[in-house]
Amino acid sequence: MSRMYRVKIAGRWTEAPKWALDLPFEVRPMRGFTVAAWPNWRPTLELLAKATARAKRKLEWVRIHDHTGTRREPSHPFGWVITETGEMFLCSYDKGTALHELAHLISGDSHGDAWAQKCFELHRTWLRGAAIKAADLEVTRYLSGRREWKRRFGERPPKQPVPKSSWATEGRRAAAARR
Ligand SMILES: [Zn+2]
Ligand SMILES: [Zn+2]
Repeated sequence: MSRMYRVKIAGRWTEAPKWALDLPFEVRPMRGFTVAAWPNWRPTLELLAKATARAKRKLEWVRIHDHTGTRREPSHPFGWVITETGEMFLCSYDKGTALHELAHLISGDSHGDAWAQKCFELHRTWLRGAAIKAADLEVTRYLSGRREWKRRFGERPPKQPVPKSSWATEGRRAAAARR
């Protein structure tokens, strides 16, 4: 675990590692965020820093959640972005969710074709191996994503099960490892 710094972020005292304080946007942990959750977020937040810089887009702040040990899906969306102000909210720390939101920020589109196309592009720039297809499949939950899949691969995508947040899936994996 990196050394923690006690800092005031958005009017609230919190403990954060240096790497999080060095990001080009302000990271705002949710109320009750535990320091043990920071490492989950590191790869995704550092990816966001690099990807926004390359796309010449600016994020003002990113609010992040901690649902460590949860058994059920959180009852809110995995992500949200306000493109006009550069404010992002992430519940899920998987890279695919961050790239989904980043595609909104870059394209200025909601869930239309421009957004879906940008998602597929971002997956190829910032993900490796099997993670690319997994993230593509997530996007096929939207009609625009299914169109983009068909355009690229010439066939309809397979049906997607109900999405799972990384908190619930990681929790299950951790529980299985303890057995
Ligand atoms: Zn959440
Ligand atoms: Zn979206």
